[in-house]
Amino acid sequence: MIKFTFVTLFKDLISPYFDDSILKRAIQNEKIKIEFKNPRDYAKNKHNKVDDYQAGGGAGLLMYPQPLCDLLDEIKKNDPNAHFIFPIPSAKKFIQLDAKRLAKKEHIVFVSGRYEGIDERVIEKYADEVFSIGDYVLTGGELPSLVMSDAISRNIEGVLGNSDSLNEESFEEGTLEAPSFTKPNIFRGSAIPSEFLKGNHAIICTLKKEMSGLKTKYFRPDLFLRNVKGK
Ligand code: SAM
Repeated sequence: MIKFTFVTLFKDLISPYFDDSILKRAIQNEKIKIEFKNPRDYAKNKHNKVDDYQAGGGAGLLMYPQPLCDLLDEIKKNDPNAHFIFPIPSAKKFIQLDAKRLAKKEHIVFVSGRYEGIDERVIEKYADEVFSIGDYVLTGGELPSLVMSDAISRNIEGVLGNSDSLNEESFEEGTLEAPSFTKPNIFRGSAIPSEFLKGNHAIICTLKKEMSGLKTKYFRPDLFLRNVKGK
């Protein structure tokens, strides 16, 4: 069982995602547990304000330290082993290997920034890791937190109905998954590769490896070259 704590001003952006499908089942089967904490509940001013102007000027507001720090201190006090992740666009990219590694943790806390982000001192003091989910800027850390928690959950034993599907997925071997097909065998004049229908699993496996290599070379030359260099 892994616990995800989402520190967010906007719980409703995250919680519905866990109300359906695989992640709903994972909660029912006690493979994952989720909780939400709102920094606004820890603000000590009249209007529960959590943002302020940037020191030295600059466009937009920042989340200031006190509410976040009080909240994160409380989490740390209750669970000294909690692992704190801050999604930030300037960090290194979150990849499948991170999802696999983090699936072994017991408690992950995702701290979502809003506005122009979070006062850097909070990140420096509390972050065990920082991740970006891509080279673009989103309005908040809620989507990145969801993306990461979903990818991590898939790697927890018993979350996916068939754990074999993990082994064949993209990025598992540093390559992209081979193209996949289902019925009918011919659809609008386009046929499934004939070897897929003959039932020789060794041949199908070789074919899939070849297709996976070609697909990786075409769509992700960076991954392909990394694999060639690694050999
Ligand atoms: N001013 C920040 C910058 O230029 O790096 C962007 C702040 S963004 C508008 C607000 C929050 O969204 C960030 O604190 C972070 O939590 C989240 N965020 C936005 N884009 C992200 C990305 N690509 N990866 C991870 N988190 C992101």
